[in-house]
Amino acid sequence: MDYNQFFKSALNRLHDERRYRVFADLERIAGRFPHATWHSPKGQRNVVIWCSNDYLGMGQHPKVVGAMVETATRVGTGAGGTRNIAGTHHPLVQLEAELADLHGKEASLLFTSGYVSNQTGISTLAKLIPNCLILSDALNHNSMIEGVRQAGCERQIFRHNDTAHLEELLIAVGPDRPKLIVCESLYSMDGDVAPLGKICDLAETYGAMTYVDEVHAVGMYGPRGGGIAERDGVMHRIDILEGTLAKAFGCLGGYIAGKASVIDAVRSYAPGFIFTTALPPAICSAATAAIRHLKASSWERERHQDRAARTKAILTAAGLPVMSSDTHIVPLFVGDPEKCKRASDLLLEEHGIYIQPINYPTVAKGTERLRITPSPYHEDGLIDALAEALLQVWDQLGLPLTKKPLAAE
Ligand SMILES: *Cc1c(COP(=O)(O)O)cnc(C)c1O
Repeated sequence: MDYNQFFKSALNRLHDERRYRVFADLERIAGRFPHATWHSPKGQRNVVIWCSNDYLGMGQHPKVVGAMVETATRVGTGAGGTRNIAGTHHPLVQLEAELADLHGKEASLLFTSGYVSNQTGISTLAKLIPNCLILSDALNHNSMIEGVRQAGCERQIFRHNDTAHLEELLIAVGPDRPKLIVCESLYSMDGDVAPLGKICDLAETYGAMTYVDEVHAVGMYGPRGGGIAERDGVMHRIDILEGTLAKAFGCLGGYIAGKASVIDAVRSYAPGFIFTTALPPAICSAATAAIRHLKASSWERERHQDRAARTKAILTAAGLPVMSSDTHIVPLFVGDPEKCKRASDLLLEEHGIYIQPINYPTVAKGTERLRITPSPYHEDGLIDALAEALLQVWDQLGLPLTKKPLAAE
C-alpha cells in the first residue's frame, strides 16, 4: 500500500481546484502596526498588512505586551496542566471575572481558543438539554457547525439572518420541545450583522435558549467593547455569549459567558475544557489588560470605524467592487479563485501589500474576494496607496471596475 500517494493526491485535488493554500512568512514589528517584515523567497521586505484580525492592534499595545512580560517574569510560562489536575492560576480567575463583567453575566468560562469554546460549548450545552433541537444560521462558522454536529441532537438550519424563516421553524417545533438558537452577531466574510433584538424576541415568544458568537465584535462594538449585543442593548437577553481573546483583544483564547448554573455545568461536563491544559497566566494577564483598556477607551473603536469608512469610500470612488458591509469589514469582490490568488500575490510582490485571498470553502464558490480589515493605524497615505495598487492589479488581471476610476493616470 502506497500511503504517501493518498496524501499527494489529496493535495493535487486542491491544486486542481486552485485552493491550495500558501501562507506568507511574516514578522510583525511591535509598535509599527500595521507594518511587518515579509521573509520572501528573495529576502526580507517591508510590507503593510491589510487583513489582520488583530483588528485594533491590541496585540502590540504597550499595556498588553507589558502585562504579558510582567506576568511571565513573575510566575513563569505554562499553566502546568488542566485545571482539574493543576488548579486554576490566579490571572485566569481574574480574566474570567473581567469577561463576566464585560458581558454583564454571572460567570464566564475560558477555553484555549474561540474554536474550542464553540465546538465544546455548543455540544455540551445541547447534550445537557433533553431532546434539544438546535436552530442554526446557515452561515455559521465551522467551529459552531462542529459543535452542533458533536451535540448529536436534531438540528435545523435557518436561512442567513432570516428571522421569518427562523419563526416558521420555531412555530413548527411547538412550544414544548427545548430549543437552542445558535448564531453569530457579526459575520466576518460579508461584514453583516444579525438582527439580535428580533432573535431575542422570537426566543422569548417561543421559549428558546440563545447562543451568540460575538468573536468579530467584542472589543469593537458597544460602549465598553461588549460587542453588538451591548451596542444594541440586548446583552441581558442573550443566554450565552461566546467570544475570542485572539482578535480585537490581540491574544489567544476563547470563552463563554452566561448564568452561573449554565457555565458551571459546561465546566463540569465539557471534554474540550476538562481534558486540556489551561491557557498560560501571561496570556490571561495580557488579555485582561486588553479588555480593561478597551472598556475604558473608545478611541480605538471610533478610529477603527473611521478608517473602515474611509477605506470603503476611497475604494468605491476608485471604481473598485466593494461589497456592501455594515461594519469594519471591507470585502472586495473578485469572483474567481485563480484571479483572487493572483491579485493577492501581485499585491504582495509588487506593492508590499498583504491581503490573503478568501476562496472556497471559506466563502461560496463564485464569491471569492479580498477581505480588507483596516485598523486604527491605517493612515490616509496607506489607504490611498492601497487604492492605487488595487487599480493596477485590477487592470493587470482584467478584472472589471464598477465605473471609470476618478484618479486614473
Ligand atoms: C475566528 C473565529 C472563531 C474562532 O476563534 P479563535 O479564537 O480564532 O479560535 C470562532 N467563530 C468565528 C465566527 C470566528 O471567525
